[in-house]
Amino acid sequence: MLGLMQDWPLRVSSIIDHAAKYHAGRAVISRSIEGPVTRTTWEGIRTRALMLAQALARLGVRPGEVVGCMAWNTSRHMEVWYGVPGAGAVLHSLNPRLGREQLVYIINHAGDRWLFCDRDLVAILEGLAADLPQVKGYVVMTDRAHMPETGLANVLCYEEIVGSEAGEAPWVAVDERAACGICYTSGTTGEPKGAVYSHRSNVLHAMVMIQPDMLDLSCTDVLMPVVPMFHANGWSTAFSAPMAGTAMVLPGRRLDPASLYAMLGHGVTITAAVPTIWLMLLTHLRDNGLTLPDLNRVVIGGSSCPRAVIESFQNDYGVRVLHAWGMTETSPLGTLCSFKPEIAALPAEERLEVQLKVGHPPFTVDLAIRAEDGDGGGEMLPWDGEAQGRLLVRGPGVVRRYLGQEADCIDSEQWFDTGDAATIDPLGYVRITDRFKDVIKSGGEWISSIEMENAALAHPDVAEAAAVGVAHPKWGERPVLVVVAREGKQPPADEIVDLLRPHFAKWQLPDDVIYVDEIPHTATGKISKLKLRQVLDEMGYRLPDQRGA
Ligand code: ADP
Repeated sequence: MLGLMQDWPLRVSSIIDHAAKYHAGRAVISRSIEGPVTRTTWEGIRTRALMLAQALARLGVRPGEVVGCMAWNTSRHMEVWYGVPGAGAVLHSLNPRLGREQLVYIINHAGDRWLFCDRDLVAILEGLAADLPQVKGYVVMTDRAHMPETGLANVLCYEEIVGSEAGEAPWVAVDERAACGICYTSGTTGEPKGAVYSHRSNVLHAMVMIQPDMLDLSCTDVLMPVVPMFHANGWSTAFSAPMAGTAMVLPGRRLDPASLYAMLGHGVTITAAVPTIWLMLLTHLRDNGLTLPDLNRVVIGGSSCPRAVIESFQNDYGVRVLHAWGMTETSPLGTLCSFKPEIAALPAEERLEVQLKVGHPPFTVDLAIRAEDGDGGGEMLPWDGEAQGRLLVRGPGVVRRYLGQEADCIDSEQWFDTGDAATIDPLGYVRITDRFKDVIKSGGEWISSIEMENAALAHPDVAEAAAVGVAHPKWGERPVLVVVAREGKQPPADEIVDLLRPHFAKWQLPDDVIYVDEIPHTATGKISKLKLRQVLDEMGYRLPDQRGA
């Protein structure tokens, strides 16, 4: 016997319909690329997204075709976020910080037909255009008065194409399993790989994101995603906020602490970004004696959150830290560190210790850890908080196959291997100890680079730290610690190593502390161990064979 309830396709257009109908007046405040702060509502976003969908149809964009977008977080980007899938097309988000070669590769690989971009990013596309034979034209996301001079062929003005439509046509009703968006992994190892989200996976994932033990989003919140919409599905914020009727503040292109602080002033109660952004903001707050009166919680993920950041937010500013783990391939939320009753009952200091873990998964995310045996066949490991293995994940928001590949990237039980090294404790809290390719293996034993980096960051004069394995004739690999000191400071090596002692066995301590002016970062603002190894190579360090620069 079948159930007799309605089939109601899970399409992202239903999210914006809901927000516009039931939370119509909720504000979407945005720092525009032209400069001024603009203000619209969910109803306004929906109306213009419908107009854009119609404009796309007029341009000949067919359902299933791919439209690229290289843009900062603004209300226009939000319109594109819904307008493109609303036309039945697929939105490919492009990170402007990627190198030329990677951008050309992913735009061609995904088969982008049209490219949207902010006016300040036109020059990047000009530099690529000669190698993009499939692209039919470009749309610059501004009005006629602000259109830049450009040598691009077939360039349209966003406000003109949107403004000439009435937006009365309905959303294109694609199957809920149809592709909705594409996001490539940054390709730090090998070619970038495309994760293709469906309408259904995005809707389910957003429903999970807003739950109380995840972001706990409500229509009384004001959410500011600092994480760019082009990074890992924008952490789903552009779907979750309208689903919950949450107001939004979009910071535009300026992500320096002073600009972010100004945007937080629009009553932001919850915000989200990678740890580097928060390290800078906290320094800015401290140096200028500022407070965070409205902010209630901050989502931190993308790389491990240092203890000092959690402590400062919570103790100095009364802002709760939600440490999260996820990846492009998982939509991206995998786990979030909210407190189960057993944890809530602990003294504050012990709770803080738990917050260094990335928390537990919501319904729809299933996890396991498997022993590392080199070819993916190890046994499943116990959840004792000690056994360390490869973190596996499965669920309706987890990738099955990368775009354009012939084989699935999961095993027969649907497990996707994240490439992360992790432990899981009896309560189901996950600790990410490393990326497998970054684990330092000394004398057959593992040393967690993440733990070493976090311990070093506890030194007040250390601005950034990265632990890397260098080749050693006897031990295979030995750790070295690369440090960027705070401006005008010179923390002595023995002081830093002393800070590590309580957390590490003697043989795990770094052989060398190396001072550099800057640690290289990836296009998503994380430490790039790959480039750092190249730097060490140039400095004369020998690198382990399998991960040479
Ligand atoms: P990229 O490879 O471009 O950084 P992702 O943003 O998808 O792409 O990165 C996902 C990876 O980021 C995870 O596999 C994990 O290694 C790391 N990561 C994400 N969140 C955390 C966290 N809270 N702690 C430690 N590592 C994290």
